[in-house]
Amino acid sequence: LSARLTETLKNLRTKGKLSAADVDGTVREIRRALLEADVSLEVVKEFTGRVRERALGDEVNRALNPAQQVVQIVNDELVGILGGESRRLQFAKNPPTVIMLAGLQGAGKTTLAGKLAKWLKEQGHTPLLVASDLQRPNAVTQLGVVAEQAGVAIYAPEPGNGVGDPVKVAKDGVKEAKSKQYDFVIVDTAGRLGVDEELMKQAANIRRAVDPDEVLFVIDAMIGQDAVATAQAFQEGVDFTGVVLTKLDGDARGGAALSIRSLTGRPILFASTGEGLGDFEPFHPDRMASRILDLGDVLSLIEQAQQAFDEDEARKVAEKIANDQFTLDDFLGQMQQLRGAGSIKKMMGMLPGMGKMKEQLDAFDEREIVHTEAIIQSMTRAERQNPKLLNGSRRLRIARGSGMTVTDVNQLVQRFEQAAKMMKTVSKGGMPQMPGMGAM
Ligand code: GDP
Ligand code: MG
Repeated sequence: LSARLTETLKNLRTKGKLSAADVDGTVREIRRALLEADVSLEVVKEFTGRVRERALGDEVNRALNPAQQVVQIVNDELVGILGGESRRLQFAKNPPTVIMLAGLQGAGKTTLAGKLAKWLKEQGHTPLLVASDLQRPNAVTQLGVVAEQAGVAIYAPEPGNGVGDPVKVAKDGVKEAKSKQYDFVIVDTAGRLGVDEELMKQAANIRRAVDPDEVLFVIDAMIGQDAVATAQAFQEGVDFTGVVLTKLDGDARGGAALSIRSLTGRPILFASTGEGLGDFEPFHPDRMASRILDLGDVLSLIEQAQQAFDEDEARKVAEKIANDQFTLDDFLGQMQQLRGAGSIKKMMGMLPGMGKMKEQLDAFDEREIVHTEAIIQSMTRAERQNPKLLNGSRRLRIARGSGMTVTDVNQLVQRFEQAAKMMKTVSKGGMPQMPGMGAM
């Protein structure tokens, strides 16, 4: 489906000026893409309303390339909703800085405790992990393992004391950090499978007891539309200061991020992307925006394509294609231009939904461009202008002249014909011409 969005945006690209209908069509697709990425309806409505308003405004009408502007607006607005710049962790004026983790069971809190500790340690800090999840029998052990992997200290209740009090452990942990001069305390807490009053009360009590500088709400990006209700429950129950999105290595589009940010007003601070302690990074709103829309790097693709193709030249070629006058000279010329734009593979890699073409792309390498050049340059001017002249004996002569085989020559001619055909088809849809891609 977001392939459809990409298509819509691509089609817009050929138009000189945007009509209200164009904008509405695009906005409809954006709306659909967001809903499919699990953004909540409320947020989608607000978002598309804003995009529509800006897209119809002066800003776009005056723009040189209106479609590009729409893409830009969509992207800007998404990045804006996601929090613009990434927010950094708040440090306490007087150490230790206390970070409390909250969230449902399985969200990734304990893993995150290790990731944060490792990350902080790498920056020269001395974090202490505090095991305030006494709900599950092995929760403390799990935090111990994580602490060891991260190479940091842990504060945990003495074993064999029966069921301990998580609030007391949290408080004692912070005390321990103060007396032993740890500059960060990360308090791991218990979660339940669903939102639960007792759990909230416990979390709220821990929060009150340790007065944290940050309360990070940890949420699994895979839980989709449930994210909103869960986030709101935690906001009411514990009141978090920031969000950590986990399991972004899965195929969730992360629309939850957009909803949570928008509905709770709390910034997303970190993204967790795997089970390993290194799979963790500060949250980047711009990357998330692309992920949600699956825009790939459409923007930079458009930029590169525009650098590579002289607009006038492209128009001339498009006319030739439409009139069946595309020649091997044009084919070679465009191929050389493309080469100037950097590797074709890299360029295609930026197009969303091109995964399937990867194999064929791998076959189409720089060496092939060199061979293609050699073959075309061995042709006479007449042959290049009119490939139909290329009979068997001419092909043999060309093969000898270029140091290639007749099969190579045949393949090139075939690819040229396919390219010409494909380009004729796409030229109606108005995609940027990509000669040499005909073999796919
Ligand atoms: P907690 O109950 O909130 O403490 O969650 P855990 O930290 O125990 O994590 C639950 C499961 O999710 C574990 O199997 C983790 O290895 C896994 N996990 C945590 N974060 C990520 C992540 O970013 N990506 C993936 N794929 N798995 C994760
Ligand atoms: Mg845990």
